[in-house]
Amino acid sequence: MAEETLFTKIITGAIPSEKVYEDDLFCAFKDINPAAPCHVLLVPKKVIPKITDAAPEDTELLGKLLLTANNVTKQLGIAEDGFRYVINCGENGCQEVMHLHLHIIGGRKLGWPPG
Ligand code: 5GP
Repeated sequence: MAEETLFTKIITGAIPSEKVYEDDLFCAFKDINPAAPCHVLLVPKKVIPKITDAAPEDTELLGKLLLTANNVTKQLGIAEDGFRYVINCGENGCQEVMHLHLHIIGGRKLGWPPG
């Protein structure tokens, strides 16, 4: 990981977190400010600042991101009842951390549309 972000520090353990899953490509940990009873961030170890920065070479990584997320929802026990995946992008998307991450949110009935 060339570029250091808040999430690379969490991935390396420099900043503590409650990790729920890790493999060679991804790390998933509990959000510090959960929006629902279950709120996990699934983060590629490769630093892609925003989803719009993803390149053709990231095609396989992005596919694996969703398939890995599906496995994490099963591990967390929210797959059957349903959940929401969210990727915030840029200022209007309220992205705070410039390191691509997928929010996995569940454990209660979620409102729609989002505020
Ligand atoms: P974004 O707004 O960038 O899509 O989401 C960033 C998320 O990271 C937020 O939901 C926020 O609560 C979470 N977050 C920010 N700082 C930390 C931290 O130090 N630890 C953990 N576990 N989550 C964090």
